[in-house]
Amino acid sequence: MGRVLIIGCGGVASVAIHKCCQNSEVFEEIMIASRTKSKCDALKAKLDGGKTKIETAQVDADNVEEVIALINSYKPDLVMNIALPYQDLTIMDACLACGVNYMDTANYEPEDIEEPEWKAAYEKRCKEEGFSAYFDYSYQWAYKKKFEEAGLTALLGSGFDPGVTQAYCAYALKHEFDEIDTIDILDCNGGDHGYPFATNFNPEINLREVSAPGSYWENGHWVEIPAMSIKREYNFDQVGQKDMYLLHHEEIESLAKNIPGVKRIRFFMTFGQSYLDHMRCLENVGMLSTTPINYEGKEIVPIQFLKALLPDPASLGPRTKGKTNIGCIFTGKKDGKEKTFYVYNVCDHQECYQEVGSQAISYTTGVPAMIGAMMLLTGTWNKPGVYTVEEFDPDPYMEALNKWGLPWQTSYEPVLVD
Ligand code: NDP
Repeated sequence: MGRVLIIGCGGVASVAIHKCCQNSEVFEEIMIASRTKSKCDALKAKLDGGKTKIETAQVDADNVEEVIALINSYKPDLVMNIALPYQDLTIMDACLACGVNYMDTANYEPEDIEEPEWKAAYEKRCKEEGFSAYFDYSYQWAYKKKFEEAGLTALLGSGFDPGVTQAYCAYALKHEFDEIDTIDILDCNGGDHGYPFATNFNPEINLREVSAPGSYWENGHWVEIPAMSIKREYNFDQVGQKDMYLLHHEEIESLAKNIPGVKRIRFFMTFGQSYLDHMRCLENVGMLSTTPINYEGKEIVPIQFLKALLPDPASLGPRTKGKTNIGCIFTGKKDGKEKTFYVYNVCDHQECYQEVGSQAISYTTGVPAMIGAMMLLTGTWNKPGVYTVEEFDPDPYMEALNKWGLPWQTSYEPVLVD
């Protein structure tokens, strides 16, 4: 059915590419292009022999002209951006220039947060909007008109969270509620990789996210809190009792706009004490900084140096045991009565590893990346503009989750988070 250019070949992309090859009726031809071509070639060597025809290329996706040249030579129906959030805008620009649909798994954030023009816009947004995360949707929403006029679709954030969590919200609104009052997104990783400290996905993105202030949406505005200052315990199905902490998370921003009348949206993620102790220590000594320092005549960025020291997230697969449990708890009204609803997925690290050679964090993101791409390629989701997952019909996406490895479960009597 289609031809897809996939940019990035890290942990998440590897799963998405495995899944595209399993779904060869839709993904007939793919090109894997990334900064380090040898990784693309190694994955092609592993997957060649199936029905999907695979090609590889080298590309620096920070360079719009390079991406344009690659798109023009390969002529894909869709570009899947599974590189890093830093490349979102350059790849969107290239898609617009070439007339191709776009999708990604995380919203834009700049690599250099000291750049004066960006910093001025950021400080204005912090004041006006009331949250201080470095990432937000404004940069990509600014492309809405351009994509509409070009008759192209950009699907933003089709991973698990963001991504599946928003499909859960759209599903709850369509089938379970007349009005949703509160949404709690709970992201639990009960996996153990046996290292004293490692991150489950790109360390730079992960550590920046969890060391930043938390925030939630309440009664029409943001409430910001110091990092890790709201803690709750929750007993997760098939995982057990875990500590979880309130974080800022990107899908809160779009859900606040797209779920009419919602009064509160919070996001919680589980962390063990050892992870938090390591992170605080690294932060205190300056290792999480993104500001370059000069070391013996060479400029280095502390968090990038740390990334080089930490285990590669892609290498955690064989070691990680246990399960993830990610889902949304809703309260609201149906037919005039109060109602609660919980929809979640449980995913087993070792089962993921056996299937695609990756742990569950990459798996739970890579599968929805393939599904989002499938929605666009098949024309199931088809409206010009820039959209997040909850803005489309959730039913075909929810059905595909069951089919492609992330089946969901529901409960009508969940324990609520206070
Ligand atoms: P990795 O660091 O494992 O992989 C990133 C890949 O992008 C690497 O192959 C890297 O190449 C490539 N890359 C980086 N910069 C460039 C560039 N300038 N040009 C071309 N390729 C480049 O990251 P993950 O796989 O863990 O994460 C991928 C994305 O998924 C991120 O945006 C992340 O934020 C997102 N994510 C989303 C989640 C969700 O639930 N929505 C959850 C987890 C992650 P190289 O090998 O040379 O470094």
